[in-house]
Amino acid sequence: MSDKVKIGKTDLFVTPIGLGANAVGGHNLYPNLNEDTGRDLVKEAMAAGIDFIDTAFIYGPKRSEELIGEVIAKQKNRSQVVIATKGAHDLSSGEVKFNNRPEFLKQAVDDSLKRLQTDYIDLYYIHFPDEDTPKDEAVGMLQELKSAGKIKAIGVSNFTIEQLKQGNKYGGVDVFQGQYNLLSREAEQDILPYCEEQEISFVPYFPLAMGILAGKYDKDFKLPEGDFRNARPYFQPDVYPKIIDKVDQLKEVANRYGVDLPYIVLAWYLSQPAIDVLIPGAKRAEQALRNLKTLEVSLAEEDIQLIDTMFKSE
Ligand code: NAP
Repeated sequence: MSDKVKIGKTDLFVTPIGLGANAVGGHNLYPNLNEDTGRDLVKEAMAAGIDFIDTAFIYGPKRSEELIGEVIAKQKNRSQVVIATKGAHDLSSGEVKFNNRPEFLKQAVDDSLKRLQTDYIDLYYIHFPDEDTPKDEAVGMLQELKSAGKIKAIGVSNFTIEQLKQGNKYGGVDVFQGQYNLLSREAEQDILPYCEEQEISFVPYFPLAMGILAGKYDKDFKLPEGDFRNARPYFQPDVYPKIIDKVDQLKEVANRYGVDLPYIVLAWYLSQPAIDVLIPGAKRAEQALRNLKTLEVSLAEEDIQLIDTMFKSE
């Protein structure tokens, strides 16, 4: 097992390959999920040294946190795992609304603590921005919860650069989580440079572009009915075949290193200064464990540049 890394300016140390756990109990995202498979995924990932687990209230909803809570409650030592969760979805009106009001976040943290069966959350993110709460006030509440020991680090997710700057007015933001992968590189324009400058650790979501950059889909692949990815841009018929052509080029780089595609892709993200840890999603334990192979890949500087150029126009 490789050395642990420090997540930005937090006091959290983790193996750089974590686990994106939205398929653990995320019944509202994926059809036919088996909860035993989800529990086993978390257990086996932790046994293999994966110690950063990313979940959220809305995965399920609630069920992902509950299943992870069941697993960590059985651990001898709570401090062996770093749990990140998120809140902002307010279902109280019967429809889904985002809510960043301080009192809502305070209650959301308490509710997550119960579901996770723990007395602290290592990293708590505001999952999505709402329209009206000033972001410094929202982050201010998380700073109070940090001082009270209920959370150890503060994250925000899906904020614009303006919202991130407002939230970080007093330097309170430790981690930013946003969509970023070789096919979606908008964060390079402003968020990634700001994170680097402010020592905010950037955690990319969809690192494998929902499975496409794992290299196993070909031009004929069809997602199952009901899979949320059917509505996402990468999988639309005018875009998808072009992406697969790029992926085939990248496979040639992976072949030179003697590894499968996902580990080259994940290693490329880890070569960036603002990125400390990744949360590739997995549905089964063997996928999560295989992603640890990334830690054996040391990309040459010229290959980091080559991959950068290869995907620049996408
Ligand atoms: P992802 O990591 O880009 O892709 C995950 C998919 O890649 C898996 O479902 C699996 O696809 C495939 N995969 C993973 N490891 C593989 C391997 N070794 N070999 C082959 N295929 C492999 O996308 P994601 O899971 O949607 O996102 C990652 C995490 O980010 C989530 O779990 C969640 O925690 C977080 N997230 C956060 C937000 C936010 O708003 N903050 C939004 C989305 C996601 P198959 O299903 O085909 O097996």
